[in-house]
Amino acid sequence: MRIFGPVPSRRLGQSLGVNNVPPKHCSYSCVYCQLGRTDKMQMARSTFFEPEELWREAEPKIAQLKTLGQTIDYVTFVGDGEPTLDGNLGKTIELFRRSGRKIAVISNASLIWRDDVKDDLLLADWVSLKVDSVDINKWRTVDRPYGYLDLRDILHGIIDFARIFKGTLVTETMLVEGLNDDEKCLCQTAAYLSKIRPAKAYILVPTRPPAEKEIRRPKDDSLRAAVRIFENQSKAPVECISGDEGVNFCLTEDPVADILSITAVHPVREDVIAVLLKRRQSGPEVVDKLLGEGLVKRLTHEGKSYLVRKW
Ligand code: SF4
Repeated sequence: MRIFGPVPSRRLGQSLGVNNVPPKHCSYSCVYCQLGRTDKMQMARSTFFEPEELWREAEPKIAQLKTLGQTIDYVTFVGDGEPTLDGNLGKTIELFRRSGRKIAVISNASLIWRDDVKDDLLLADWVSLKVDSVDINKWRTVDRPYGYLDLRDILHGIIDFARIFKGTLVTETMLVEGLNDDEKCLCQTAAYLSKIRPAKAYILVPTRPPAEKEIRRPKDDSLRAAVRIFENQSKAPVECISGDEGVNFCLTEDPVADILSITAVHPVREDVIAVLLKRRQSGPEVVDKLLGEGLVKRLTHEGKSYLVRKW
């Protein structure tokens, strides 16, 4: 599914997702990735879908949501991989202006040193760039980048982009226990962020089943220390997102399609799905059927059960 949601987002309200790259094409294979390990590593931009093709899929969905009185705050390019790998990103953003909604892009920033990527992102209203660590070894350990990527180019590229972007630029730093949550690493990251001055520096923790089983979120004490360091040194407002987005998903008339589209992008807690189904007068038989047909699979993380789309 290339158009999904809207899904509730702490950062963007109700966000209609555009999945403009096929499952899991990414330049990183982050240890915490909720989509599993990257099997299609690449750093060259490609053409995956025609912009018109994506718009043809989105237009009826936007019209249907309007009829149902459901809000869309942002159309967000995010999905099963890295959206800037799409060579048509800029054209697609321009086409999606027809939706009348603000456009957001959530990027891992790995290609921001490229002028054509900067040009595409300049067309958005809100851009999130990943800065997990500015230490090359930690960056390699946490984000597991495609071999030819150079962290120095990326960090310079982010600073250059921040200087010219007129929209809202935020950063996200995913903290993993024992990998990038030590004081030295946090101080280096925060000092770097002070050069960008993002509208907000988000600190995230893995909340859903990660690519590598041993990955853990930092302990509460470390997380509090991280927020303090960022607040003191990043010169940006800081927000820590350490929980799920909750149950405020919008559903269309077809809960099965909704579940498939939402679980395609990230694992969703089974208790949240039960609430969604109840709202549409459906029950657990829907989930049993999807599991039976092999369309979704069940994962457990930190004692909670999740469903994720199976490809
Ligand atoms: S978390 Fe994002 S950047 Fe990292 S591997 Fe997954 S899709 Fe790629």
